[in-house]
Amino acid sequence: MNNSIINLTNVTKRFKVGDGEFTALKNINLNFKKGEFAGFVGPSGSGKTTLLNIIGSLDTPTEGQALVMEKDIANLSHQESALLRNHHIGFIFQVYNLLPVYTVYENVEFALLLQNHTKAERHKMVMEALDWVGLTDLAHKKPDRISGGEGQRVAIARAMVKRPEILIADEPTANLDAANAHIILKMMKQLNEELNTTFLFSTHDEKVMNYMERIVHLRDGEVENDRIIVAEKYK
Ligand code: ADP
Ligand code: MG
Repeated sequence: MNNSIINLTNVTKRFKVGDGEFTALKNINLNFKKGEFAGFVGPSGSGKTTLLNIIGSLDTPTEGQALVMEKDIANLSHQESALLRNHHIGFIFQVYNLLPVYTVYENVEFALLLQNHTKAERHKMVMEALDWVGLTDLAHKKPDRISGGEGQRVAIARAMVKRPEILIADEPTANLDAANAHIILKMMKQLNEELNTTFLFSTHDEKVMNYMERIVHLRDGEVENDRIIVAEKYK
């Protein structure tokens, strides 16, 4: 599949637990195309985070193959997998972990410091990313001076500022009220359309599911159901 950006073939993940093993993912076979807006849904413990961590090259499969942008993530050196994450993959988590002593601007700029940009280039990129999430006015505030919803928008700007091909969002609305959840989902959908970034979510949240164009249900580490809701886009 030449236009797929993520290929998972028989991905199995086992964790050592005491003297035994626990199988968190069992024979996962999935492909994602560039520009998909897809969610992993399933009860707590079904393997959503484990799978997102493998796709994000934060972890490797025990068996099977995970190709991300045509790279077999199990065969990457530490340096190669860091390079893949620094340039091509953005992460948004439930807890957005902004650095408290830095301003909103500096928190977003931080994501660019491992890349080779001039200060002027970084300034342009950071202000554009803050504009995407409607926060240019808050650039010089510290995280304790902004709301929770604004904090998650800063986290989106931080994840998107390097224009990654893949954006991984693990339960991004878990700490947000309904109004803020809708605001950030609309922003992410717009970025998905404008930049053709592939978005992969994990969620329990009905509000999030309503925005998804594809929903993959996981249960006990297996794909229970894989449903494409908006197909036209991928023809
Ligand atoms: P979800 O995100 O769907 O709630 P996870 O992917 O976090 O599920 O976890 C799936 C299962 O794998 C859970 O039973 C969890 O306890 C187990 N698990 C996850 N990470 C580890 C680990 N590092 N060591 C042992 N078990 C783990
Ligand atoms: Mg999880």
